[in-house]
Amino acid sequence: MRIVMLGPPGAGKGTQGCRLAEHFKVPQLSTGDMLRAAVDARTAVGLAAKSIMDSGGLVGDEIVIECVQERLSQDDAQGGFVLDGFPRTVAQAKSLDSLLHEKKLHLSGVVELVVDEELLIQRIEKRAEEAIAKGDIPRSDDNVDTMRKRLAAYRESTEVLSNFYYNQGRLIPIDGMREVDRVNADILKALS
Ligand code: AMP
Repeated sequence: MRIVMLGPPGAGKGTQGCRLAEHFKVPQLSTGDMLRAAVDARTAVGLAAKSIMDSGGLVGDEIVIECVQERLSQDDAQGGFVLDGFPRTVAQAKSLDSLLHEKKLHLSGVVELVVDEELLIQRIEKRAEEAIAKGDIPRSDDNVDTMRKRLAAYRESTEVLSNFYYNQGRLIPIDGMREVDRVNADILKALS
């Protein structure tokens, strides 16, 4: 199974992606996680990405595409994957298509979690509060202002991806506002 998760930040792509990865026994690949690891490791990619990520913008296509290309070439991704947070632009989607095309492969489905943005903002506030309550440091991009920026960045660049994948006949829109188990069941049903 080669699955792409689409949806604005906070929509539950990570949670649902993780479940799908376990179900299909494939790795869940999150470009956000890859970039955060690069920031923590202070690599050249991390240094270039940090301020953009903190301000809620999108890291350049070239950097992200290179990270994904490298990750998809690893052994554990040969049997499939769940991509979470990539692609976010049409340029990224096209590069993913050509990468798969070279291997005579294609995406099994593109799951779009459809959600209410105001409720998402409340979810982000809760996530930051929960992190603080547990004694963890909340993600530096988990605050309302950044969230609004990230949602705007999503609308600007990523929403066109829905059309891109709709035109390919691969888009699977799912109501992401239901409870986690229900959303998961809906996705599995749609993919079967
Ligand atoms: P996420 O954990 O997916 O919400 O990603 C956190 C941040 O990493 C985003 O706000 C972006 O700054 C950056 N990022 C993650 N994936 C991408 C991508 N595919 N293209 C550009 N920037 C990305």
